[in-house]
Amino acid sequence: MENSMQRLPGIGKQRARLFARLGIETISDLLQYFPREYEDRSHVVSLGEADGEAGLPVLVCGTVGTIQELRPRRGMTILKVVLRDETGSVEMTWFNQPFKKKQFHTGMTVTAFGKIEWAYGRRQMNTPDVEEGRPHGNGFMPVYGLTDGLKQNDLRRAVRAALALARQEPELLPAPCVATRHSVQPRLAVYEQMHFPVTREEQEKARQQLAYEELFDMQMGLLLRRRKEGGRQGIKCGPNGSLLRQLFAQLPFQLTRGQTAAFLDIQNDMEGEVPMQRLIQGDVGSGKTVVAALALAKIVENGYQGALMAPTEILAVQHYEEFCRLFHDLPVRIALLTGRTGEKERKTLLAELDAGTIQILIGTHALIQADVLFADLGLVVTDEQHRFGVRQRAALQDKGRSPHVLFMTATPIPRTLALSLYGDLDVSSIRELPPGRKVVKTYAVGESMRQRIYAFMRKNMAQGQQCYVVCPLVEESENVDLQAATALYDTLRTAVFPEFSCGLVHGRMPGKEKDAIMEQFSSGAIQLLVATSVIEVGVNVPNATLILIDGAERFGLAQLHQLRGRVGRGDLQAYCILLAHQGSEETRQRLHYMETIHDGFALAEKDLLLRGSGQLFGYLQHGLPDLKAADIIRDVSLLAAARDEARQVLQAGVDETHVLAALSRRFGASFERLLNN
Ligand code: ADP
Ligand code: MG
Repeated sequence: MENSMQRLPGIGKQRARLFARLGIETISDLLQYFPREYEDRSHVVSLGEADGEAGLPVLVCGTVGTIQELRPRRGMTILKVVLRDETGSVEMTWFNQPFKKKQFHTGMTVTAFGKIEWAYGRRQMNTPDVEEGRPHGNGFMPVYGLTDGLKQNDLRRAVRAALALARQEPELLPAPCVATRHSVQPRLAVYEQMHFPVTREEQEKARQQLAYEELFDMQMGLLLRRRKEGGRQGIKCGPNGSLLRQLFAQLPFQLTRGQTAAFLDIQNDMEGEVPMQRLIQGDVGSGKTVVAALALAKIVENGYQGALMAPTEILAVQHYEEFCRLFHDLPVRIALLTGRTGEKERKTLLAELDAGTIQILIGTHALIQADVLFADLGLVVTDEQHRFGVRQRAALQDKGRSPHVLFMTATPIPRTLALSLYGDLDVSSIRELPPGRKVVKTYAVGESMRQRIYAFMRKNMAQGQQCYVVCPLVEESENVDLQAATALYDTLRTAVFPEFSCGLVHGRMPGKEKDAIMEQFSSGAIQLLVATSVIEVGVNVPNATLILIDGAERFGLAQLHQLRGRVGRGDLQAYCILLAHQGSEETRQRLHYMETIHDGFALAEKDLLLRGSGQLFGYLQHGLPDLKAADIIRDVSLLAAARDEARQVLQAGVDETHVLAALSRRFGASFERLLNN
């Protein structure tokens, strides 16, 4: 293959396989394998100044003095080479590398790069990188992510060779973005500056160009997908009718401003020509369910069916129960379908669904099974959308003909980011909580407070309230964590709170058992629930007023906030206790944010800043591509600009097939799938 890694000197079949482990199959993959960081070799530090204080490697240059080889015992050699300049000297040392000695002779000029350490009052440099002569490859040295069997120098050499080859064959360079008026620098230079920049500024400028191209392409993809959706004929609903009027009239509360605004957005979408594609983001407890109920009522009164999919059995059941209350006495047939629906019941249910007599179907993944057929599905609502993969959501949509689609999430992200990031979705945000909600009092404490916390929990439970205790689950060692959780549970149950009934839920538990315990907690039969972080999103137990998060340092902000959302759902004052065992500066900062910030949107912003965008994608499971040069958080203004330009370019008209082909070349199969479903 023209673009094969094996074209590079020193890379055969075996090496090529090692590179493939890093996702590098071709020369252009290699050119896009950007450094993790750079070593600053842009200026030479004089030996008198080099004191190793910062612990960072430095570049020094001098003349070789004495060369000494020691053999303290058999099979061990220490090579010591003194390097001096006008200001001072350093002793370079190598252990068990006898062949190194031949490289040096007294009086030669050498450039060395390494960490300075002090030993016995002398400056030492252990195993530095050395080159003969004065520094020439000046600038910054790339540091790449590695895999077993490949060293830093292997990557550097390969990238240098790839750049050299690309000088002669520019078609080896990764393609620029699909269509933009922005092309500035010659492409080779951009890649050279990404790998071997002379200055920081040069590297950042190159990175921004590549980031822009990447973001532009991503936006093109999302907008194209959106256009495809938009090109479909949607179900045009009429103005609100009597069912909605009755539903509004019997709501047990007044909608908040955010809920009203969100439903207005939905109403406009559903009365429009194209299918709705809307995301409702609202903090835990902001009341998204009722908004979904209103949307579903609207589709029902227009003669269509609606579906609501939740990520867990318990949530589905809770939604079903809440819908039954909200629609009480109204002529709407609502049904529940989960993995646990009995065979016989399921059969009748599917028949009624197919006949159109069931109007709202609520359930879990069970909804997307092949034999679940709707007479006329007009609206699909996905709750806690980040918990579903792209394909699962699409599978449900495919059960109707271009149905309206509504996503709900309690993992909000800042609006500017959401708009650009979701590219293909409209976003409504519910920012306030229903009135009367008390702020969950949050305290970060250390281990020394444990007994006092237990006493406080006892007081709460004695008054008839319920508590959660969360212990962290770290994926690397589920077993160890499970043991820790079980041990804590046993202690609490037998030694600390023998007078209360306790339960334990964890990820290893069969779903049925887990649900049974959650139900007992929900009904009040269990007063203290010990859980690994599996506590179901969105579970509603208003009588639970305290959550103790043991090992709070192990959780991210978004997760802590989600967990905190388990309490404070009733009228009583609720508490969230964050028990942390160790306190790095970052941990303290994070827990302090939890104590002082109660708005999920504000916390989400802090979370993104603290943890970077890497987390974002796993979290949202939006099917977005991995970005190589761009950082969605840091580059949010580039993102906005790229989106604007992509819009203009699309309006001016493009060759869609060509663009789609280019996009799947850049982003690979998973993005293509996203674009095509
Ligand atoms: P989430 O957005 O987390 O899904 P829910 O829809 O479960 O929130 O609502 C949380 C609780 O708030 C529910 O018990 C619901 O009945 C109640 N609720 C929703 N909207 C309002 C409102 N406008 N006023 C008072 N209570 C409300
Ligand atoms: Mg919810």
